Amino acid sequence: MTEAELRELICEVGRRMYARNLVAATDGNISVRLGPDRFLCTPSGVSKGFMRRQDLVIADGRGHRIAGENRVTSEFFTHLAAYEERPDIAAVVHAHPPMAVALMIAGRGMTEPVLPEVVMALGAVPTCAYATSGSREGAAVVRELIRTHDAVLLDRHGSLSVGPDLLDAYFKLEKIEHAAQTLWAAQALGTLRVLDASQIARLRESGANYREGGE
Ligand SMILES: [Zn+2]
Repeated sequence: MTEAELRELICEVGRRMYARNLVAATDGNISVRLGPDRFLCTPSGVSKGFMRRQDLVIADGRGHRIAGENRVTSEFFTHLAAYEERPDIAAVVHAHPPMAVALMIAGRGMTEPVLPEVVMALGAVPTCAYATSGSREGAAVVRELIRTHDAVLLDRHGSLSVGPDLLDAYFKLEKIEHAAQTLWAAQALGTLRVLDASQIARLRESGANYREGGE
């Protein structure tokens, strides 16, 4: 993808995040890796629902702005931590999905294997330790879990999902919130029926077969 196409895609993903209530006001941020020390990211203080391509900024691997008029978001350090831990990823999406955050605040979290589709696509979605939003500490607390998970929750804050491209990272966010809505409804109706160990093992096997078959 060219940089112009990536700018357009970031704006489109931002509009969808805003329209789907995954962020409010100027919340959330999106970045993609353009090169080894070059990242295209959403700016500070601009609504994800109303971004223009020229609003985006380019930052280096220390979080310094290289190009663009706006400020780099303070939460970009959290994105950088993910890029440092995961050389395989090229996109990071941070949002405030309300139902997923509500489950986490209530202490239910999203680590229980209930929905096969979510187990296959995401595995568990663990919650990182609490940290002040946008602080260096916020970047530090995601490092360990993002090494082994493509999506994590930030304690009493939001979500962080990563992927080899932007749509992949964004779809993980959609899946988190969709799963959270289903889990919440199920909990309101009764007890969650969790997948057992053999069911999870078979899912993992079929996942491996599916990937092998697709090559
Ligand atoms: Zn946030």
